[in-house]
Amino acid sequence: MRRISIFGATGSIGESTFDLLMRQGGPAAFQTVALTGGRNVVRLAEMACALRAEVAVTAHDDGLPALRAALAGSGIAAAAGRTALLEAADRPADWIMSAIVGAAGLEPGFRALRHGTTLALANKESLVTAGPLLMAEAARHGARILPVDSEHSAIFQALVGEDLAAVERIVLTASGGALRDWPLERLARATLAEALAHPNWSMGQRITIDSASMFNKALEVIETREYFGVSPAQIEVIIHPESIIHSMVGYRDGAIMAHLGAADMRHAIGYALNWPERADLPVARLDFAALGRLTFRAPDDARYPALRIAREVMEVHGLAGAAFNAAKEIALDHFIGGGIGFADMAGVVEETLAALSRGNGLGNAPSCLEDVLAMDECARDCAGRAVQSLA
Ligand code: NDP
Ligand code: MG
Repeated sequence: MRRISIFGATGSIGESTFDLLMRQGGPAAFQTVALTGGRNVVRLAEMACALRAEVAVTAHDDGLPALRAALAGSGIAAAAGRTALLEAADRPADWIMSAIVGAAGLEPGFRALRHGTTLALANKESLVTAGPLLMAEAARHGARILPVDSEHSAIFQALVGEDLAAVERIVLTASGGALRDWPLERLARATLAEALAHPNWSMGQRITIDSASMFNKALEVIETREYFGVSPAQIEVIIHPESIIHSMVGYRDGAIMAHLGAADMRHAIGYALNWPERADLPVARLDFAALGRLTFRAPDDARYPALRIAREVMEVHGLAGAAFNAAKEIALDHFIGGGIGFADMAGVVEETLAALSRGNGLGNAPSCLEDVLAMDECARDCAGRAVQSLA
C-alpha cells in the first residue's frame, strides 16, 4: 500500500486531497502516515480517524489538549508545534502533499525530500523562496516534485513527451481575480469581502486575495521559472476571465498545447496523485457549446504592479524571492487585519525590496535553507516597518 501524508490537511487543497483519497479507497487503499493542520484541530482529528493516520499534528502548541481530546480512544498519536511538524516530515512516505499556506510550508516539504519521496507541491512559496535549493535537494535524493498549482500542472501535462529545448514560450492564464473589472480609482478602497469574491475558483482566503492583487500570478511566474528552468522572457501572463484554459506551452514550430478543464483543483491534485497514470476524477466535464467562447486580454500594469515587481525579483534572483514572498505575506496580514488598504500591499513589498537591496545580499544565491529563513525573517521586519510608516 502506498504510504501518504498531507501537510496542511485542513485547508482548501488539503480538503480536496482528502476527498480524492477517500473516493479512491481511503484507508483500504492508502496507508496514511501523518496529517497536519493548524487551528482546525476538530476537523484534523476527523480526517485522521477517517484515514486511520499514524499521527495528527497541529502546528500550534496550545492546540494539543483539544487535538488529544478529539482523538481520544482512536489510537492515533497527537502532536503539536513546529518541531512536531518537522518530525512528521521525517516519517518516510511515498507520496506527500505539501499544502501548508505561506513560507511556513517550505521546511516540511524540503525535509520530506530526503526520503526520495514524491512531493505533490501546492505550496508555491517553496519554489519562490528556495527554488534552486529545493530542486537540487530533490535531485540529490532521487525525489520527485510534481506541481499541484493548476497552471503548473497544466504546463507539466502539456510538456509530456516533449523536449524542453523545443519550448518557445509559456503562457500563464489568470482569471484577473475579484476586482478585475473595477475602475482603477476604486481599487485602493477595496474591502476584504470584495477582494474575497473570486469569480471562478474556491480557494483559501490568502490565495484568493492574492488573486485579486495578482500577487498570486506574480508568485506563479517565479514558480514557473524555478520549476521548469525557462528564462523569465519566455513566460507570459494573459487574463482569461473564464478560467477554462489552465495554461499553455508554445513550441518553436508555433504550436500551442493547452490544458483545459473545469476550475476544480481536484484536476491537478488527482493528476499528481495518480501520475503517471490517469484516474477517473469527480470533476465537471466541459460543455463547449454551452461555453460558447473563451476570451483573453492583456494584464494592465497600473492595475497589477505585482507582475512588474515579480520581473524585478527574477532579475535580482538570489534571495530576492524569499524577501518578496515574506514582504507580501506581511502586507497581506495587514490588509486582512484592516491596517492597510488594498493598493498599499504593493507599496509595502516595493519598499521592503528597495530597503533590502542596499547591502543585504539580496542577490546572493542561498547556500542552505538557513540563508533563506534568515532573509525571510529580515524581510518580515522590514515590511513591518514599511507598514508602520504608512500608518
Ligand atoms: P488554506 O489557508 O485553505 O489552508 C492552509 C493549511 O495550512 C491549513 O491546513 C492550515 O491549518 C495550515 N496552516 C496555516 N498556517 C500554518 C502554519 N503557520 N504552520 C503550519 N500549518 C499552517 O490554504 P490553501 O489550501 O488555499 O493553500 C495551500 C497552499 O496551496 C498555498 O501555498 C497556496 O498558494 C497553494 N495553492 C492553493 C490553491 C487553492 O485552490 N486553494 C491553488 C494553487 C495553489 P488550519 O486551517 O487548521 O489553521
Ligand atoms: Mg494557480
